[in-house]
Amino acid sequence: MRQWSTLEASRKIKPIMRALANKLSKEDAQAKVALEPFGRKTLSFYRYIEIDSPVDLRDKLYVAWEKLGILGRIYLAEEGINAQISVPIPKLEEFTEDLNSVAELNPVATPQPIRLNFALDQSAPSFWKLIIKIRSQVVADNLPKGSYDLKQVGEHLSPQEFNQALENGGVVVDMRNQYESVIGKFANAITPHSQTFSEELREVAELFKEKKSEPLLLYCTGGIRCEKASAFLLAQGFTKVKQLEGGIINYAQAVKTTGLESKFHGKNFVFDARLAEAVTAEIIGKCYTCQTPADTYDNCKNDTCHNLIIQCDQCRVNTLGTCTLACQKIVALPMEEQIQIRKGHKALFNRPVNRPVNRPVNFS
Ligand SMILES: [Zn+2]
Ligand SMILES: [Zn+2]
Repeated sequence: MRQWSTLEASRKIKPIMRALANKLSKEDAQAKVALEPFGRKTLSFYRYIEIDSPVDLRDKLYVAWEKLGILGRIYLAEEGINAQISVPIPKLEEFTEDLNSVAELNPVATPQPIRLNFALDQSAPSFWKLIIKIRSQVVADNLPKGSYDLKQVGEHLSPQEFNQALENGGVVVDMRNQYESVIGKFANAITPHSQTFSEELREVAELFKEKKSEPLLLYCTGGIRCEKASAFLLAQGFTKVKQLEGGIINYAQAVKTTGLESKFHGKNFVFDARLAEAVTAEIIGKCYTCQTPADTYDNCKNDTCHNLIIQCDQCRVNTLGTCTLACQKIVALPMEEQIQIRKGHKALFNRPVNRPVNRPVNFS
């Protein structure tokens, strides 16, 4: 299985993307969703499975799922699929059937329905467009090939079993990035400082290298990162690696529907317009500006910055929703001048102004 470089991949898909991409502006797409006469469900799913031609599959899925009115962001790679989507409720059954009939995503030998993780908070829209992208990996790990075997992963624990395991003692490790764990985490969880998954894998292996036979309880948003992390840690010689099945999303559903005691506190960071959903009402984050308790993320309103920050309501007003005095000064300028600055910034950095460097568009 050959790994594509991102550049190669983007060259290969460009002509097709142009033909299939949704051409609506963000505003028009939002207006279209607002007028829909039906409700939607936000859900996510993933599967690690060898896909021979992600490009061909992309075309096929785009055509089929656009017809069903699916919106969202889907990544395809030779190692599998990772999707966060919004499905019209009347089409949910049809979509589920279609998903499980896609030959490339369903191994003939051991067919098993793909697990759908439904979001806890279905009140706000999550996506406005359907975007399917090709990546070199669905979860970037920057590890040499053969560093782990995705068929040898950590034991899956149900939310109930995870609670039991927490009580029995074991090291709880948050496999998400730091900006995710600062607004919500399991009690006593180790939250590594890494800003990317690939850094975090190394950090966790190093942190516990003397404790390879202790139980490690891993969790992440929906399970996709723990699947890979547990495979990597097992390959590194760790012997008792367990993972929360379906991640925090599934755990939060169990808390809501079965009355399970929540040992997760605060909000679950999610990768769509909602940015987070509350699992419990506790606020465990801090305002970036004044350090008082806060857990609402937003991007800095300076379009050349877009830094993702937590702010309290008061500071959001006082700073005009910006992260620094420099950004605040720019936002306070007349729109004409702001546009000039944006143009200069774009030329200077040769990247689109709406693609900030540190905005977590995905967790890889
Ligand atoms: Zn504040
Ligand atoms: Zn800023």
